[in-house]
Order: sequence, then C-alpha cells, then structure tokens
Amino acid sequence: MMTYLSKRILNLEPSPTFAVDALVKELQKKGSSVINLGIGEPDFETPSHIKTAAIKAIRDGFTHYTATSGIPELKEAIVSKFKNDNQIHYQPDQIIVGSGSKPLLYCAFQVLCNPVDEVIVPTPAWSSYVEQIKLAGAKPILLPLNPPFTLTADHLKKVITKRTKIILLNSPSNPTGAILEKKELEKIAQLVVQKKLWVVTDEMYEKIVFKGLHISIASLGKEIAERTITVNGFSKTYAMTGWRVGFAGGPSEVIGAMVNLQGQLTANASSVSQMAALAALNGSQKEAANFAEEFSKRRKLLIDLLSQIPSLMPLTIPSGGFYFFIDIRQVLNKKYPSSALWCQGLLAEKKVAVIPGEAFYAPGFFRLSFVAKRPILEEAVKRIGEFINES
Ligand code: PLP
Repeated sequence: MMTYLSKRILNLEPSPTFAVDALVKELQKKGSSVINLGIGEPDFETPSHIKTAAIKAIRDGFTHYTATSGIPELKEAIVSKFKNDNQIHYQPDQIIVGSGSKPLLYCAFQVLCNPVDEVIVPTPAWSSYVEQIKLAGAKPILLPLNPPFTLTADHLKKVITKRTKIILLNSPSNPTGAILEKKELEKIAQLVVQKKLWVVTDEMYEKIVFKGLHISIASLGKEIAERTITVNGFSKTYAMTGWRVGFAGGPSEVIGAMVNLQGQLTANASSVSQMAALAALNGSQKEAANFAEEFSKRRKLLIDLLSQIPSLMPLTIPSGGFYFFIDIRQVLNKKYPSSALWCQGLLAEKKVAVIPGEAFYAPGFFRLSFVAKRPILEEAVKRIGEFINES
C-alpha cells in the first residue's frame, strides 16, 4: 500500500496504555461500569494550594512565553529539591523544565544518540523508552529480567558492547515496582564510568516507596554525575499528570543541547503549569505524603487479596510505584493463550481493565495500577478471581 508517512513514524508503536484507556472511556460512555486499573495516573486531585497558584498566575497575566529551560524561580527550587532530596548538586544551568518528563526523555535520547548507538533497556519496561530510542535513530537493546526484576551490574555486563552508549534506569520501576539498592547502583555506576557510558535515569516514582530507600545514581560521585541525566516530574508525586511539567538535571553541555532541541519543539512548559509546579515544590508536602500513604494502604490490601488466588503465586511485591506486575503464565490456557488475549477477556467478561505484559516486553504478565479506592480494588480482585475460575 502506498503511504505518505515517513518510515520513522510507520515504525512507531502507539502507547499501549493510552490505547486501553481509550477503549475503557468508550465502554464507559456506552454505560458500562468498567473498573479502570489500566492507566498510570493517581486518582487523587491536585492539592488545592497548587491549583490556587495556577489561578493566581492566570489572574496576574503570567500567560506568556518563558525562558525555554524554565522560569528561574522554578529552576532554583529544582536545584534545592535535588540537593535536599537526592543529594545531587546541580547549578541552574544544569536544569531543564519541560512539558512532562516524557518529552525530556525524548530530548535526552535525541541529543545523546547517534544511529550506531545502543541503549540498554532492562525489561519489563515502560514502552515509551523503546519508541523514543528508535525515534533517536539508535537501537534499543532489551535486557529481560526475571521476577523480582532487580537489575544488577552483572546483568548489564552481559549485554554491553562497543556500541553501547546509554543505560536506561527506572527505579522505582513502572511496571514492576522494583527498586535499585545502593550497593548495586554503586556497581552499576562503576561500570558506567569505567566503560565511559551514559545513564538516563527516570526517577518519577521516587516519592512512592514502600520498602527500602530511593537512591539517585548521580549522588554516588562526581564522575557518575557527569555521565547521568536525572529525569523526574510532578505527575505522580503531586497528582499533576494533566499539567504536563517535568524536569531533568545533568551536565550543562547535555542539558544545554536539550534546551536547544526543546526550543525547536515545544519551547517552554506552560507558564501557568510552571507556577503550579513552583507551588508544589515550595509549598506543603503533606498532601503528597498522604498520597504515598494511601498507596501504601492499597498495596497492603492487594497483597492480602491477591495472595488468596493460588494461581497468581508467587506474587512479586512492589517496593515502590503504584503497580503490581502479576505473573499469569499458570493461568493461560487454550481459550486465553496469551496475556494480551487474557486481558481482553477480563475486560470483556468482567469489566476490569489492566495492561497486558506485552506492552512492557514481558508477555505472560499483566500490570494492575492501584489507582482506585480500596472498595473498588476489592471488587476488581474479586472479579479477577472469578474470571480465572471460570475460564
Ligand atoms: N516515566 C515513567 C516510568 C512513567 O510511568 C511515566 C508515566 O506514566 C512517565 C515517565 C511520564 O510522566 P510525565 O507525565 O511526566 O510525562
């Protein structure tokens, strides 16, 4: 078939999570009572002091272009955040604010990758990394991990080649909830420095940690900091997915290149959202802590409920984030031979939306987001149990 579209775009896979969400919204519009545990966004309201700051920004006429890299006050607040929370010492020219962390990850791959380069992506992984690496013309090298999905330096050693340019880290991980511990991060940092590689580290879920400690690899020494782009954002911590603000820190040359690219792409993140983000960082952290506390309660409840379904054992318990990544290889059968078909069946038969492992390069699993109130989660697990028994 003739097409006018570029090879690059024909080669792009659409976001599988957004595809499930669109289907759920369609079903809901038709009156179906779907429980949506597919999407990766907190179900909480953005805290009111953050909303108020945005409303004030609009009223004050703060509605024009800003500096491409972000407003100075916000960059200063991000410098302090990195120093206080993560023990990373960046200067303002080492910070970029963007329209979410997603475009910043895109910019990082664009400015670091050449066509011959390989980027190691430990899987299960969020699909945008792979698509963005492909868009940068580089080659994603998937590194499959087994439950409990903790990456080690030894795993990496097996796949590093002369072409390796970047190692992608995501801790706490979407979808597995695995957290990289300090000891292992130190070994990874050593390897990166020794082999003169780069790290892109996505730390979006750093504030939602149930077990262990979140450590930023860039805090482990000057040499590794000079080879690391630390990406973070407001979406998950402050329930601000729709505001589209993220930030990144790294060596000034790389960040400067990302600013140049962003200048030709989105330009600055929304001026109003930047004011909201400033209020998020400088204001009370109580609501964000409450969100994390509620996620912790939901995780406990789900451990209890899911443990009652023998065919889902052994259960991988997330150390952070707000997802369970559940092994259904024992459950698959003639009727539902793949996790993709099983998830379709669950949605059709029981009106529960979850994301199949295929979306994370890990068929045989599904991701359940705990982004609904506890009674709804109870109902969802009840329906999942029924679906397993009946199919
Ligand atoms: N990184 C991970 C691991 C995510 O799960 C998500 C969103 O689902 C993002 C980045 C994107 O977040 P943002 O809303 O800041 O673009």
